[in-house]
Order: sequence, then C-alpha cells, then structure tokens
Amino acid sequence: MPIYDYKCEECGNFEKMQKMSEPALTECPTCGGEVKRIISKNIGIVFKGSGFYKTDSGSGVKDRIRNLNNERQKDNQALLDGDVKGFVEQSDATAKKVLEA
Ligand SMILES: [Zn+2]
Repeated sequence: MPIYDYKCEECGNFEKMQKMSEPALTECPTCGGEVKRIISKNIGIVFKGSGFYKTDSGSGVKDRIRNLNNERQKDNQALLDGDVKGFVEQSDATAKKVLEA
C-alpha cells in the first residue's frame, strides 16, 4: 500500500498508509482538524513525448513500438536517477527515433 503525506494545520505533517482506492483524508485523525494531502515527490514525473501509443499496423511496427517504448523507459529512468542532463540527451535521441519510425 502506498504511504501518503498529509499536512494538518495543528499537528503538522504526518503519513498515512492507504489503499489507492481509499479517498484522501479530510480530517486529522489526531485533532479532527482539516488536513491536506501533500503530493508525493515521486509523482509528477513528466512522461514526455510521443511514441507510446502508436497504433499503426503493418510488419515490423510492433517491434519498432517496443523499441521506442524501451527508449522512453531509458529517458524516464535517467530522470528518476536525477540525471537531468542524461535525460535531456536521451530524450532528444528518442524524439529523433520517433520521427524516423
Ligand atoms: Zn491535527
């Protein structure tokens, strides 16, 4: 289960383990005050560019799509690693491959 960060005006920040399907808390479990859910640092990664949803049919297209998706994963992995320069370079290279595909 993911852990969500909340902020209570009275008690400060706290974490709560919740199912994805559960609604966000609106009341602090400690003081009953209003709480706001803080967007996790792990959310907000930009999966930019095209190449994920190409739907052309024809021979070899599936392989090309698979290759492009692999390239995109490299882009995003570079970003997850905090390698912004690597991400930009990798992403540009992928964008070219998408155009050529
Ligand atoms: Zn509170």
